[in-house]
Amino acid sequence: MRRKKYRLWQSCMVMLLLIQSLKGNPLDLKAIYSEQISTETNKALEQIAQDYEEMTEVITIGYSTTKQTEIKALKLGKGEKSILINGTHHGREALTTVLILNQISYLAEAYVEKQTINGQDVRTVLNTVSIWFVPLVNPDGATIALSTRPEWKANGRGVDLNRNYPTLYATIATKPTPGPSGYAGTEAFSELETQALRDLCKVQEFEAAIAYHSAGEVIYWWYHQTGELYKHSLVIGCMLSHATQYSLVPISQSRGGRGFTDWFIQSLKKPSFTLEVGKNANGKRLSLMEYDQIWKANKEIPFLLAKEMINLNSHEWQVTINEVQIKGKTIFGRGVVPVKAICQALNLNYSYMPEEKQISLTDGNNILSFKQGEKIALYNEEPLEIVVPAHIQEGEMYLPLKNILELFSM
Ligand SMILES: [Zn+2]
Repeated sequence: MRRKKYRLWQSCMVMLLLIQSLKGNPLDLKAIYSEQISTETNKALEQIAQDYEEMTEVITIGYSTTKQTEIKALKLGKGEKSILINGTHHGREALTTVLILNQISYLAEAYVEKQTINGQDVRTVLNTVSIWFVPLVNPDGATIALSTRPEWKANGRGVDLNRNYPTLYATIATKPTPGPSGYAGTEAFSELETQALRDLCKVQEFEAAIAYHSAGEVIYWWYHQTGELYKHSLVIGCMLSHATQYSLVPISQSRGGRGFTDWFIQSLKKPSFTLEVGKNANGKRLSLMEYDQIWKANKEIPFLLAKEMINLNSHEWQVTINEVQIKGKTIFGRGVVPVKAICQALNLNYSYMPEEKQISLTDGNNILSFKQGEKIALYNEEPLEIVVPAHIQEGEMYLPLKNILELFSM
């Protein structure tokens, strides 16, 4: 009997270990960076979405023009606002697809494990700003580049997707006929791949975007923007340059046009960046040997961009309620206040459970509880959706003002 129980326990442990080892399984770089890239990429996205279903969502945003291959996007986080990371507009630059798939699984793991990156709580950031990833914009072109034509940039029918966007002041040279690179198509958005990205951008209204390309270790950030958009673009560009050690391309060398980044800046009036990863291309696809270096430089980039968008869209203010001075913040138009001051002003009691990072407020009759980084609060045990998650900054817990004022009358 005892032995039986032991065996049962043993097989349960084996199952548990198996499940754990499957979850967050490291991606098979060689399988992805092969002529099977489109199948492997979509398989990896579905697997990640299944492993981390709590905070991911996968959708098909369109199809490739020649082979009707599904182009998928994955959303990570529950933030109301969002940013976009895309890769492989150009077939031969498909190492950026490998990079993006790894960025997704790295962040998904950090989210479920409640980790911090650079001292920032991952859940708090991703539950304020979600990240959409489109790792493989050009599946047909990538398949060509990884099988027979290592120099191939265009899509399956020879249109260069990063020349297929409508922009004013385009100066970049184009070729008159379809081929491996440089042909802009019969008109802007003539290709299903660029249409798919355009439609996703229009629906999601991203706060910022990164398009990964290769090579050269430089960052394009400017396309005729001025004023506030120029300032924000420069601040983010400097942050990205500092994090990756890639150089910002000077304005005098930035006037290209017809690309995703140019269109995004000009048409959607939000910051966008082209990050050129890798050193040595010689007009061909990058070698997998370069991958480690690229990974080190870019691992945290999507997270850092999401965090920077929160910084750029926050401001501080002060208000006096019942003679208590409260120093609050507005994040994307939503107010948050430090717990001690608001409780004093509204005569509420609060208790904090450090283990769970949970704080509860009560007026004697009702209890409102928040957990750091979570999108759901509890009001008298009933779930309540909140817009900006509770978060700790400089040792102080900040809570959404709207919910507190609504639930505890002054
Ligand atoms: Zn490119």
